[in-house]
Amino acid sequence: MLEIQDAVTRILACVSTVEAESVAISGAFRRVAAESVSSAVDVPPWDNSAMDGFAVRAAEASAGARISIVGEGAAGRPLEGALPVGNAAAIMTGAPVPEGADAVVMVENTDGGRDGSVTIEVAPAPGANIRRRGADIAVGDVLVRAGQRITPGVAGLLASAGVAEVKVRKRLRIALLATGDELVEPGGTLGPGQIYSSNPVALAGLIEEAGGEPVLLGAAPDDLDGLVERMRVGLDADALLTTGGVSVGRYDLVKDAFEVLGIGMDFWKVRMKPGKPLAFGVARHGGRDVPVFGLPGNPVSCMVNFLEFVRPWMLASMGVEQPFLPMVEAVALTPIHETPGRAKLLRVTLEETPLGWGCRSTGSQSSGVLTSMARAHGLLFRSPEQGPVALGERVRVQLFDPSFLDRADPGL
Ligand code: AMP
Ligand code: MG
Repeated sequence: MLEIQDAVTRILACVSTVEAESVAISGAFRRVAAESVSSAVDVPPWDNSAMDGFAVRAAEASAGARISIVGEGAAGRPLEGALPVGNAAAIMTGAPVPEGADAVVMVENTDGGRDGSVTIEVAPAPGANIRRRGADIAVGDVLVRAGQRITPGVAGLLASAGVAEVKVRKRLRIALLATGDELVEPGGTLGPGQIYSSNPVALAGLIEEAGGEPVLLGAAPDDLDGLVERMRVGLDADALLTTGGVSVGRYDLVKDAFEVLGIGMDFWKVRMKPGKPLAFGVARHGGRDVPVFGLPGNPVSCMVNFLEFVRPWMLASMGVEQPFLPMVEAVALTPIHETPGRAKLLRVTLEETPLGWGCRSTGSQSSGVLTSMARAHGLLFRSPEQGPVALGERVRVQLFDPSFLDRADPGL
């Protein structure tokens, strides 16, 4: 049986970078930049006022000085010409600072201006309340690096520099096929022995978060011909995920379907809990290599396997340098009883404590219990040698919310 790290290594060996396409900046959220973008402009493009007030020469604006007002500049409607010596100009936030002015007195530090003059109540320091040209972004600054995921902040940054389109990696199309005679789509009526199929819905959300496009193929029955036929359809996508039918039961036919479809089984089973019976292989289909992940049927197992294996494969294929979920250190606020022998990924919530992050178990760690997954913020990682989690122990937790890492400094 493979260790988690070895399974990851084998899966990442099957990565090839997907093509790039140009998209409008308004649709770039969660996409991965295919090239670095530097700014062609300064932001702001000119010195402008950070306050509503009066543009002055600081040397003329001592406390008590009364200065005549020459005109007004507002955002989008700049004052024309330079500020004449001995004058002030009314100025609004975001308006260009007129040539000659070297400070803005905020309106609260004046009498507000009346009868064509303004009385300064608090003298400004030279440069006060002026946002300098290029202070946010200078020409040539890197706005986004190739391989960086585009967060709302980065998309806004690109837009602020006037970038209308950005080259990103194509979204991976990931086919999802549930398997099992017992499965009924949500909204249907359950017959004897039947359950609602939840795996495709949960996986579709995870695929979207990872920047992919789920292709829902419904559920295949537990018969080999039907299964093979449905899996073949899935091979048109960039990767195929099946759920269920991959253990040692009499109706667990996914591995047989791998064989019929000529998908070489790279490995089956990983020494982890939940998620042991993962099967992985690569199909040769239409001149392309298509990874096939036979995920377990238990709802938590298939989600955990997605996060540990499929997500890194997806992000690496889109050129993300660090495709793994971020890990934080936390103090265990509850003991968790687990036996050693396999790597464990335990569902926990995180909370702030005076000692930093604290974590507690969300309840039953059974691989079929989805409530404890739905409530969790992340997975406490235990290596195969580690036993139960003791109260107060320092542990490592993988966060479900990866935007923590997406905020990494792009090198501005
Ligand atoms: P299997 O590996 O096919 O034996 O499935 C393991 C467990 O997961 C069984 O209890 C199945 O009923 C359940 N299961 C399989 N597929 C799904 C699904 N799509 N949604 C919810 N539970 C499922
Ligand atoms: Mg089954």
